[in-house]
Amino acid sequence: MSETFFPEYPPNISDENLQTLKNLAIDWSLSHGLVIRPPTNLSNNSFVMHAPVSLFPSPFPRKTYDEAIELQPAFNLLFHRLSQDFEFITHAIKEITGVDDFVDNLYKIYLKVKEEGIVQPISLGLHRSDYLLQVPPNATEANILQVEFNTISSSFSSLSSLTGDLHKQSTKYFNSSELLKKDSLPLNDSMTSLPKGLAKAHELYGSPNAVVMMVVIDEERNAFDQRWIEYNLLNNHTVHIIRKTLAEINDQGKLDSKTKALIIDGKEVAVTYFRSGYSPEQHPTKKEWDARLLIERSKSIKCPSISYQLVGAKKVQQLLAMPGIVEKYVTDPTEAKKLRASFAGLHPLDSSPEGEAAVKLAMKNPESYVMKPQREGGGNNIYANDIPPMLSKLSVSERSSYILMDLIQPPLMKNIILRQGELIKGEMISELGIYGIFIGGEGENEVIMNEIGGHLLRTKGRKTNEGGVATGFAVIDSPLLI
Ligand code: ADP
Ligand code: MG
Ligand code: MG
Repeated sequence: MSETFFPEYPPNISDENLQTLKNLAIDWSLSHGLVIRPPTNLSNNSFVMHAPVSLFPSPFPRKTYDEAIELQPAFNLLFHRLSQDFEFITHAIKEITGVDDFVDNLYKIYLKVKEEGIVQPISLGLHRSDYLLQVPPNATEANILQVEFNTISSSFSSLSSLTGDLHKQSTKYFNSSELLKKDSLPLNDSMTSLPKGLAKAHELYGSPNAVVMMVVIDEERNAFDQRWIEYNLLNNHTVHIIRKTLAEINDQGKLDSKTKALIIDGKEVAVTYFRSGYSPEQHPTKKEWDARLLIERSKSIKCPSISYQLVGAKKVQQLLAMPGIVEKYVTDPTEAKKLRASFAGLHPLDSSPEGEAAVKLAMKNPESYVMKPQREGGGNNIYANDIPPMLSKLSVSERSSYILMDLIQPPLMKNIILRQGELIKGEMISELGIYGIFIGGEGENEVIMNEIGGHLLRTKGRKTNEGGVATGFAVIDSPLLI
């Protein structure tokens, strides 16, 4: 990829000023809650450290940023429509069940509550659609390609907004590049957009004294990103959040036998907001699965509901790329075309002719692909030379629970990142996420709220395959629109 795609960057700055800027970034982060818990000594909750951040905002083409923003309401609605389609979900999950216990368990809960009758037709989506840039051969402009659409536990909305503020502050000290103009650093309302969605869902539930329950893990390192949601929800909307683990919900939660209200600690839960519940490790025992079933059976508004979580599967993303699928759910052809233009090549790995062809391509040319299981949270994908041995090892039905995606090769940009007090300079890649706030009712066309909720930019070294911040691969950044 052309190394001159982006302008000369980062700003030329003396070593002495760089140290000053580093200390400023650390102290500003500590002063403003741009923090995470340290990796060790988690049982002592009085320690914090600065979040991993980039020292400078990263250049990002304004046109593609605008395009990603514009796509969000259409993606929000598309995923709502998919979530209402029982046959589509069943078709998508069919390939995975029997070989993936985690998806099996989710699907069983989905079937069970469907059979019993859904008592809460409203669902809240706090989504995030993630993109990488790609410059097509011989082109001078980049376009965006979707990496994935997250329907559960989309994180970093609060710390992302704070990182934008950090960059605005640091450019006041060292405005050493003419690129660092005020209007190049876009506003980011992700700090308040998620609380706004939670507040609206709480209002729709219709019980002013009820609370929002955040489903959390013990010893969460990213607790402050979550706490900011709690503070904003209370300060801007007068709604309280309680934090509970799945095990605690199983032990302490009850359903009102008549109304199916979810009651915990004597409080009624209006909205259940999952910041856990997306991976097998978060369900070590039957207790956690029982808690999920209890929540799903309840009248509380779920964020996400089990059907929203299921349509966030990578398998669904691959199916959407098949001919005619997006077009079935998005009736406006121009809009369907725009959504489709953001899709990278996606292939099944099942026993269909397409699946067999994809296996051959991946065996022959593995460095052009990423193989993905139905997992969230980073660190699960298989890249390049690790793909052929994996494919050879798996049975056909095991293989079917993965998808194959064309590797996106984004343009490189130079920046300096700050992690655990250390500066690392080098060639970087950025991934843009756009938050979507959606509230849907029963049926594919009932839309109560459909908004764009701000953005997240994550930046990582060029040689790093994965992209998660929590998993230690990337840092939080903000876009410098060029
Ligand atoms: P998860 O749900 O675990 O976050 P992703 O699909 O987002 O799974 O993959 C994790 C990371 O892997 C992404 O953040 C990105 O950095 C990288 N990645 C995923 N798909 C691709 C792709 N098609 N091309 C290049 N990198 C990718
Ligand atoms: Mg994900
Ligand atoms: Mg991801």
